[in-house]
Amino acid sequence: MTAGGPERQPPVLIEKTIPLSRLMDFHAPGEVGEFCRSCPRYGKNWSCPPHSGGCTLTGPEGLAERYRTVVVRTHQADMTGFTDREEAIAWYHSCRRKVNDDLRLYAAEHPGTEVLISGHCSVCDPCPRETGGACRFPEKRKYSPESLGLRISDLLVEILDTELQWEGDEMPAVLNIVTVILRSVPE
Ligand code: SF4
Repeated sequence: MTAGGPERQPPVLIEKTIPLSRLMDFHAPGEVGEFCRSCPRYGKNWSCPPHSGGCTLTGPEGLAERYRTVVVRTHQADMTGFTDREEAIAWYHSCRRKVNDDLRLYAAEHPGTEVLISGHCSVCDPCPRETGGACRFPEKRKYSPESLGLRISDLLVEILDTELQWEGDEMPAVLNIVTVILRSVPE
């Protein structure tokens, strides 16, 4: 039995491959950074902004210089039928952990790829940035699309033909777990 009951199906994957140049149409670090600043995790995890010279999409060391093709993905978790909100949230987080774990494995098995996970890096708990410590495993650290300034709500609508469904405090029918695979080979 999994969180959410024995009947619950795993999240449904929707994905599309696009050139990296198309992904950059959704790069708006100033605008997205405003949302990040209002997050309680802002500055408390080395995978979250401000990156202080760490990973970026643009610039000489940026990911956009190294990769050519992008797989934009969302795993849609079924959130219907829950009577307990905490149980629903636990189900969503278990789905997100599985998606991220699978993605890390994929990256490890596919040289020439980089992956952007959903949410913040959770290799260490808590991340030592909270107490002023350095990243313990820089080689394992993964970033989220939004932490790099990507407008994921627009990616969902314009690339994957779906949408974020949060409206107020109501639990939506599905929750999106948005991730990205960057490849160095052309589409
Ligand atoms: S690897 Fe550990 S220290 Fe580094 S960002 Fe991830 S959680 Fe933080």
